Parts: sequence; C-alpha cells; structure tokens
Amino acid sequence: MKRHIIDYEYLYQLTHRVTPLEEDCGLLCGSVCCRPDRENSLGIYLFPGEESLLSGGEDWLEREYHNPAEYDFPDNWEYPVHFVKCTAPCPREKRPLACRFFPLSPHLLRDGTLLLTHETIRLPYRCPLVAKKKPLRTDFIEAVALSWSFLLKDPRILRLVEEDSMERESSGRGVPPILWMGRRH
Ligand code: SF4
Ligand code: SF4
Repeated sequence: MKRHIIDYEYLYQLTHRVTPLEEDCGLLCGSVCCRPDRENSLGIYLFPGEESLLSGGEDWLEREYHNPAEYDFPDNWEYPVHFVKCTAPCPREKRPLACRFFPLSPHLLRDGTLLLTHETIRLPYRCPLVAKKKPLRTDFIEAVALSWSFLLKDPRILRLVEEDSMERESSGRGVPPILWMGRRH
C-alpha cells in the first residue's frame, strides 16, 4: 500500500497556539473532556504514526493498543491503534492532534469537498462548544482545516473520514452547520 508520510511535528507546530475561543474554554466546563469518566473509558486515538511524538515515558497518560478490527476502524488499519487515557493534565505542547482539533469534525462529501462541523459523535460529557454551537476562532478553524488537508493524504485516515461521513449522512441526523468548506487537496 502506498503511504504518504505525515509530518506530525509540523502539524503540532501548526496547531500549537490556536484555540477554539479567545478565552480558555476549559473554564466553561471545568475541563470535563480532560477528566476520566466513571468507567475510565475516556481517551484519545492517535493517528497512524503520531505515536512517534510520544516517547513512551509520559507520566500523564496510560496507553492501550487496540485491534482495529474490534474497534470499528476501516480494514486498511493495522494493529496496534494507539489509544491514550490521561491520568493528569498534559504538557500542552504534547497534547495529541485529536485534542487540538476538538470540537471540530471533518466531513467529506462524495465529490471530495471537505467540510468542518461541530463534532457529532455521542460524547460521555457535555461540551458547551458543541451543545451551544459556539462560534469558534477563524484562525483555529483554518489551522484545523489545513491539518486535515495533510492528514487526508494518508489512505487509512481518508477511509476513516469517508466511512464516518457516510455513517453521519445515513444516520438521519444530518450534517450540522458548516464552519469551513474547501477541497481536500
Ligand atoms: S473542548 Fe468542550 S468539553 Fe473540552 S474543555 Fe473546551 S468546552 Fe470543555
Ligand atoms: S491530552 Fe491534554 S488536552 Fe487532551 S484530554 Fe489529555 S489532558 Fe486533555
């Protein structure tokens, strides 16, 4: 399979300083998305290869290695898929891309148009940015859109977003209001 190498260090730099709101959105909710839930099931998936930016010696997270076939990933994903659970606040410069992108979610139309919307998956907590569809900073949205344009060059990530997008459309819930729209490459 032809693989495009993603420059995760560049994506970390690109998203280092941008935040969804001018102020710290954690003040709205007590940073609920960073706290373990009752079942300690809350965590973050890393993109393929992103794990190279975590040394393995981090004292603020636990790591699990998931079998993609058991966790609803497309069949072009291979074991292990890295899943991390935070046990303490992260050093900000180390936070995974999924945290940097939240609460934006990518959606691909069949003609290759990439949309960004508020996250639509069911969450075990209430994010005020999602619940109230808060307007988000333009520089944040643009940095996330640019990051996705790089990530979607990896066929595994492309398939994941395509499958999630089809599922969203067929769920009947529809796509939430669009916050950004452009070509995926
Ligand atoms: S992203 Fe949402 S849930 Fe997480 S800290 Fe910000 S407002 Fe709270
Ligand atoms: S990595 Fe940081 S931002 Fe992401 S959930 Fe953990 S503590 Fe929160």
